[in-house]
Amino acid sequence: MDDDTHAGAVLSIDLDALVANWRDVGRAARPAQAGAVVKADAYGLGSVPVTQALADAGCRHFFVAALSEARQIREKVTLASNTAIYILNGLMPGAERACADVGAVPVLNAPDQLARWSALAVELDRRLPAVLQVDTGMSRLGLTPAETEALAAAPEALASLDLRLVISHLACADEPAAAANRAQAAAFDRLTVLFPGVPRALDNSGGALTQKPTHYDIVRPGIALYGGEARQGLANPMRPVVRLDTRIVQLRRIAPGTGVGYGLTFVARRPTCIATIPVGYADGWFRSLSGVGSAFIAGRRVPIAGRVSMDSITLDVTDVPAAHLFPGAPVELLGPHQGIDDVARDAGTISYEILTSLGHRYARIYSGGRSTGLQRRTGA
Ligand SMILES: *Cc1c(COP(=O)(O)O)cnc(C)c1O
Repeated sequence: MDDDTHAGAVLSIDLDALVANWRDVGRAARPAQAGAVVKADAYGLGSVPVTQALADAGCRHFFVAALSEARQIREKVTLASNTAIYILNGLMPGAERACADVGAVPVLNAPDQLARWSALAVELDRRLPAVLQVDTGMSRLGLTPAETEALAAAPEALASLDLRLVISHLACADEPAAAANRAQAAAFDRLTVLFPGVPRALDNSGGALTQKPTHYDIVRPGIALYGGEARQGLANPMRPVVRLDTRIVQLRRIAPGTGVGYGLTFVARRPTCIATIPVGYADGWFRSLSGVGSAFIAGRRVPIAGRVSMDSITLDVTDVPAAHLFPGAPVELLGPHQGIDDVARDAGTISYEILTSLGHRYARIYSGGRSTGLQRRTGA
């Protein structure tokens, strides 16, 4: 634990909160089954521990973006035999055999992908599992409506495949009232009728948490599992999953008129106490938080003074009682006073980007799930 003890910051990941969030999304989407989106290293929180915790809780449908992510899960996570790993970004040319070897299910997003996956099935003389994505209005991935209709009219193209699921993706699920959601659902209904009996999946977190007539057969939550806000302007019912604690490395008192940090963009207007913490934009604490973001010391907000550097941040701690100010004193970056969506708002982004940018220099402490027994340090 030496590196952990000396780390500049500790990222704590609560796998029990993650699992509870997954169960809540499943309840909201009933009778649909909840899968889990664990792409991008499970939104930065570690795809192996996250996937293991959800698999242990009963999740059987995992969605990643890339083949390499599926491979990592296959190699390191103990999965029940009826568990599927789907690759959302589809089948890159030349990746067919590797995909079959990993035992992942590609999401076929275009006719060429379908043709290549079918050709491999014929060559291997076995039916290969597949997901079909149809584009219902986002114009990103998936067969166009015309391509979908053409496929349904010539279903031999699917004969060598085991079509497990038809999916589409909502462009505006974070705005539950948007008309686009109803239009996409209507298009999804119209296109999936062409594949009778095949299970369907449309909703991400925002869709799964929104009350509506159907969530189809499987939902694909990502951000909600990790505690992020899935729907703009509505209370976020999810539990926080991460906290990030750092410590003061140095304190200095400066006189009025003294500048702080690169560009001297902060200039003290009163006798000021500056605390430096060893976290910067290289750790995912965005430079756009310069002069805008906050940290918390003993529950008190301390503003970022001046620019965020690569490896450090300067805080104006003038109003914090001296008892809380010493080298090594705890500083909360993510926790009860400031969540991932608060930081995202300050940084001008979304919590997805805060999570997927979380740094690699943090010590990571997992609690809950199979990690029970690991010391849970909170810095407090
Ligand atoms: C990322 C992604 C999701 C998960 O979205 P959240 O908003 O994080 O719940 C679901 N489906 C697809 C196709 C995705 O790309």
